[in-house]
Amino acid sequence: MRAAVWYGKNDLRTEEREKPSLEDGEVLIKVKACGICGTDLMICNEKFPRSHPPLIPGHEFSGEIVEIKDVSSNLKVGDRVVANPLFFCGRCVACKMGFTNACPKLGLIGVDIDGAFAEYVKASRDKVYKIPSRFPFQNAALVEPVAVAYHAVRISGCKVGDFVVVLGAGPIGMLVAMIAKIAGASEVVLIEVAKYRLELTKKLGFSTIDASGGNVVEKIHEMTEGKGADLVFDTAAVSQTAAQFISLIRPQGKIIILGLYKQPEKVDLFNIVIKEGHILGSRVYTETDFEKAADLVTSGKIKMEPLITHHLTLEEANKGVRLLEQGKDVMKVVLFP
Ligand SMILES: [Zn+2]
Ligand SMILES: [Zn+2]
Repeated sequence: MRAAVWYGKNDLRTEEREKPSLEDGEVLIKVKACGICGTDLMICNEKFPRSHPPLIPGHEFSGEIVEIKDVSSNLKVGDRVVANPLFFCGRCVACKMGFTNACPKLGLIGVDIDGAFAEYVKASRDKVYKIPSRFPFQNAALVEPVAVAYHAVRISGCKVGDFVVVLGAGPIGMLVAMIAKIAGASEVVLIEVAKYRLELTKKLGFSTIDASGGNVVEKIHEMTEGKGADLVFDTAAVSQTAAQFISLIRPQGKIIILGLYKQPEKVDLFNIVIKEGHILGSRVYTETDFEKAADLVTSGKIKMEPLITHHLTLEEANKGVRLLEQGKDVMKVVLFP
């Protein structure tokens, strides 16, 4: 089969590879669409220590079942599916408490083992969800990032009337904004520096603040009559957002961090006490979150089309990663193997 294989820093090559061979309980999926995500960029730039070359990246995928190695499965060849790429130990404290997303042994298809920048990928049959017959594969591939956003909004306790700030208007930031609206937020403001993303965000009907103009904290306090935001989601995870998020919340407001910080940052912990604020980390999603995300996407409650800016072939995988790196005029890149 054809696959884009990562060999080291900036070295992603599309080449011939052996098709994955199945073990009991697994299905072989012919990949129809696979999103490229910030994590894939980190892997390709050797900034994701868990991943080791040679590796086929790709964890946001959908496709069609072509082989099943388990007679008792309720799935059949030809089923159109999306797969939850996470795997966990099932035995540790986190897993036993139901927080499988915080398992210390958490792994991901396309991060820890070969993924879906390929013609075929295998998955465990209990991680596979059917999608409606005519539902577009490219939208289904993005159930994974929707699950990330859904989990963050769920643990934030977002409710009707909340004033929400989202730091970073990349795909995850946009999805958090959409899901916060569905949860009842009265206002969602996205903070971003990239002009293209600001434009797209506005087109989708959200308020935006161009962070390159400064004064983000002042503007949010103006918009909330001095109160501050109920919830702040940090999807950008850079020094500027760490320096800012505590000033953005109201007393007893919550900060939910979804982005992965690359280094320790200076945070104003004096003010977290003064405001009696909450800082929560949000890590991927549970299986229930993934199912919920699949429902949100396939029911059309979340519109994926405006987020997909680039449709590329497997041969163009490297180009797709570079597009994300340059970050210019790009939102979501999807590969069609
Ligand atoms: Zn991802
Ligand atoms: Zn575990």
